[in-house]
Amino acid sequence: MKLSRRAASLGTENAFVVLAEVNALLRQGRDIISFCIGQPDFPAPLNVQEAAVRAVREGKHGYTPSAGIDPLREAAAKYLAGMRGGLPIRPQDVVVGAGAKPFIAYAILSTTDHGAGDEVIYPNPGFPIYESQIVACGAVPVPIHLHEAYDFAFDPAELEKLITPRTRLLILNYPHNPTGGLLGRRALEAIAAILRRHPQVWVYADEIYSRLCYTGEFFSIAQLPGMYERTIISDGASKTWAMTGWRIGFTANPVLAPVFTRWITNTDSCASQISQWAAVEAINGPQDAADAMKQSFLERRDLIVGLLNGVPGVSCRLPGGAFYAWPNVTEACRRIGAADSEVFRQRLLHEAGVALLADIHFGARVPGEGQHVRFSYAASSQAIEKGVARMADFILKNARAA
Ligand code: PMP
Repeated sequence: MKLSRRAASLGTENAFVVLAEVNALLRQGRDIISFCIGQPDFPAPLNVQEAAVRAVREGKHGYTPSAGIDPLREAAAKYLAGMRGGLPIRPQDVVVGAGAKPFIAYAILSTTDHGAGDEVIYPNPGFPIYESQIVACGAVPVPIHLHEAYDFAFDPAELEKLITPRTRLLILNYPHNPTGGLLGRRALEAIAAILRRHPQVWVYADEIYSRLCYTGEFFSIAQLPGMYERTIISDGASKTWAMTGWRIGFTANPVLAPVFTRWITNTDSCASQISQWAAVEAINGPQDAADAMKQSFLERRDLIVGLLNGVPGVSCRLPGGAFYAWPNVTEACRRIGAADSEVFRQRLLHEAGVALLADIHFGARVPGEGQHVRFSYAASSQAIEKGVARMADFILKNARAA
């Protein structure tokens, strides 16, 4: 039987593919230290767990409105606004989904037409779902390159060049997966100044790591003049409260909220009611667990970046947010005779028992930027110390052999 071209070409999140490879090695009894998974290594806070149990016991088992239960839309509206300079976000502007991820597709589907040549600009390297959904939705993917020299931001002049009358959507992600880079207020102001000249372009602000920003207060592009109405603010419970498997995301935009609601009626019906009540508690309840996780990620960032910069042939910028480090391994590849970062990753996994992702798992390698790998440092400090030491030994041993 024939598959559609869309299904045949659908991309994936290669983290899941590498994860399967790692799990297969673990089942063979191999000793692997993994830095692959992009999720907090903590359980959800106890008060959140208790709220979920309460919801089950109180019989909160049914469908909810597609946009989410009112208490969560109210809590999320207040929360999103509070973190973003008091934006006028109302509960009816907020839609709750089964994670933030589904809103990537809903945003593309709601702002572009299939096969019409509508263009979507997205960061490269970047979260792989952007590109795969742009293509699956029948829009034209237009990558904008991130540069190590700018701490993995892009050059606004490059954005200006990429925008055409066909551009419909610009996807931004800060703090950024996979580099941990930020777009600070000055960069966002430059982007907004360009967008004001192109009023047809929507913005999808993927702010899922908003609470893991280490350089000061989080700032959203939606806070800049003229940007609020055209920006889809996307955040959620996964990273902030260690709730990845609970599947709660929330998105705010005054125009698109009813449209996203209709998409959800057509797909998931609603997010899990149990998780929604838990998310109300996550937002409204005490924040000490979330704050402690952030503090722990910050300490581990400093640990891993310091260690990586001591590894021969490796250099690592200090990421401003999220829980990812994106070291440059160009010289390490050369020393051990690995053709590229993917060969380096495979050899490191099989020969040294350290699991990472390679740059090509986040889009085509940016010309002139060299070779990179991604560490998710949501791992214990012992794992970080041991994993980086194994990497250093591996490079030293193989550099001698090469
Ligand atoms: N955007 C980015 C940049 C992410 O890294 C992730 C999770 N890896 C998501 C969105 C999706 O998160 P959620 O669990 O809320 O679907």
